[in-house]
Amino acid sequence: MRGFFHEGHWYEDTGMTCRRCGHPVYRSDLAEYAYQCFHCDEDLYSFEAMEPDGAYVPPVMVARPVGGIALNEGLEYLLDDAGKPRIFAGWREAEAYLLGHGVAEADLETVYFIEIDEEDGKDSGCAFKVVDADGVRYYTSPEVLGLADFAQSLHENERDGGGSPLPLAGRIAGAVECPEAAWLAMADDPETEKRFSCFLIADIVGNVLWVNEDHGDGLAHYVFPLSAVLEAAAMEGDVWDLLLARFPNARVDR
Ligand SMILES: [Zn+2]
Repeated sequence: MRGFFHEGHWYEDTGMTCRRCGHPVYRSDLAEYAYQCFHCDEDLYSFEAMEPDGAYVPPVMVARPVGGIALNEGLEYLLDDAGKPRIFAGWREAEAYLLGHGVAEADLETVYFIEIDEEDGKDSGCAFKVVDADGVRYYTSPEVLGLADFAQSLHENERDGGGSPLPLAGRIAGAVECPEAAWLAMADDPETEKRFSCFLIADIVGNVLWVNEDHGDGLAHYVFPLSAVLEAAAMEGDVWDLLLARFPNARVDR
């Protein structure tokens, strides 16, 4: 069976796709809607879904119920050589692999082809390098997904409960310090690097913030004065809009 796991629930394929993003849609949990798109995170009326045009096939993982009992949990996954769930380009590739590895055609009925939203892999948030007078430290945070979150986080967590200013790294929501070697290894490994939605280098001494983020126009490098980012965060409006209006040449790689 083909479908998608979301928060522990199994949603069977509907054979329909989202008109907006082209990803598969699943039955809505709400009576007033026909479908939901996990990619857009929206519930949809039936006219917002369409027959697939064949352009997009989601990658899948393969699993079967532990002990052969179908449940919404207790699945065992087909693993790759590294011990991680093996990911196939689509369910046809997965079926072909299973048939080629001794699984009988009739048994495919009991196999779960679990569709993956590609951006699910991008859940590691941001990686940060913070340079201050004491040296360089490295952090990651799954709660900060980009410059806008970063700016908001700095603004909202400017002071601790007692009203004392916090150091910049202490203001980043969910920040976990990571050893330099781990950070450098991540930066060298394209697979790991892809899991982060954004890389930021905050140079407090030099008053510079380097941003490597996809701001709707592909992954790109931007440079802003760190103080201007803090100012923008304190203002009404979209941080990106405010900063790009003030620094139209902030993008440095074109
Ligand atoms: Zn969608």
